[in-house]
Amino acid sequence: MAYQAEYIWLDGTSPTPLLRSKTKIMKDEAATPPIWGFDGSSTNQAAGESSDCALKPVFSCPDPIRGGANILVLCEVLSAIDMKPHPTNTRAPLEKVYKKHAKQGMIFGLEQEYTMLKLDGSPLGFPAGGYPGPQGPYYCGVGAGRVIGREIIEEHTQACIDAGLLIEGTNAEVMPGQWEFQIGAADPLTVGDHMYVARWLLHRIAEDYDIQISFDAKPAKGDWNGAGMHTNFSTTAMREGYDAIIKACEAIGKKIDLHVKGYGDDIESRLTGKHETAPYNKFSYGVSNRAASIRIPWQVAKEGKGYAEDRRPNANADPYTVTRLITDTVCSAA
Ligand code: ADP
Ligand code: MN
Ligand code: MN
Ligand code: MN
Repeated sequence: MAYQAEYIWLDGTSPTPLLRSKTKIMKDEAATPPIWGFDGSSTNQAAGESSDCALKPVFSCPDPIRGGANILVLCEVLSAIDMKPHPTNTRAPLEKVYKKHAKQGMIFGLEQEYTMLKLDGSPLGFPAGGYPGPQGPYYCGVGAGRVIGREIIEEHTQACIDAGLLIEGTNAEVMPGQWEFQIGAADPLTVGDHMYVARWLLHRIAEDYDIQISFDAKPAKGDWNGAGMHTNFSTTAMREGYDAIIKACEAIGKKIDLHVKGYGDDIESRLTGKHETAPYNKFSYGVSNRAASIRIPWQVAKEGKGYAEDRRPNANADPYTVTRLITDTVCSAA
């Protein structure tokens, strides 16, 4: 019987690429999804005269929305002229760095925060033209007036599980309408692939509720928390001893600009030094410190081994770029 393959890819929208997808009907049940193409001039990926881009499947999983034999197919974008990675393809450069340092056993766990918006652009839970009560009761809250949008979280979490993604948990965040899910822990390619499929599922599910999902770093100006993608990481050496953790933090601290530039658009608005952040242009690390650039969890300090959390990446960061930077910096210094 025929089935549907939803091809998903990242476009060329600047500064933050959008997810795109289209459906291919697979007539032969036994066939695997082939390389396919699209019109790059409609996605900011090509000029009109030579507009063909190619889609190379890199990760597939069951489609939890359509069910049955239907699948989701995450793709890398190639230029159709030479079949080389397109300039907007950030997964290909990550693959190189990952392979170079594969022996060091780097794994990542990503905490994806996001904000639900009404169609008028205001956050869900914000009254028309105004503001809800100040932050305090919303984080991990329960009950009407404290949490909003839970039906979308429930549906999204189950969809991620049904798709076989490495989802680890969810929680309501500090600002109303803001939520988090975590993906990991896995090698950088896997964690990035699973994150993008999870993001696509979130957009797709929220569509049915007329809710927009925003990964903006600072969706509400003023005294409201921004949205991040805390990036937890460890090499085999870090999982075995504390010295390697300190060495990793020191190495990252020597490349402040390089990292911050790859951590997502509008990072200056979010990393102000307030709202559980460190200033974007200063580097610090510390045990249990949620106002540091990198936090070493207290259990890790106690046990003398484990992982560290780079708290700086934005919610709108590209996981392929963030994990490439951290892998390269940490593994090259080890
Ligand atoms: P918090 O909100 O306290 O910062 P979370 O529970 O939301 O923490 O997320 C913890 C993250 O740490 C998870 O994504 C998990 O995969 C990740 N993690 C745990 N152990 C490791 C490890 N050894 N290496 C990399 N990531 C890890
Ligand atoms: Mn968290
Ligand atoms: Mn959080
Ligand atoms: Mn965190």
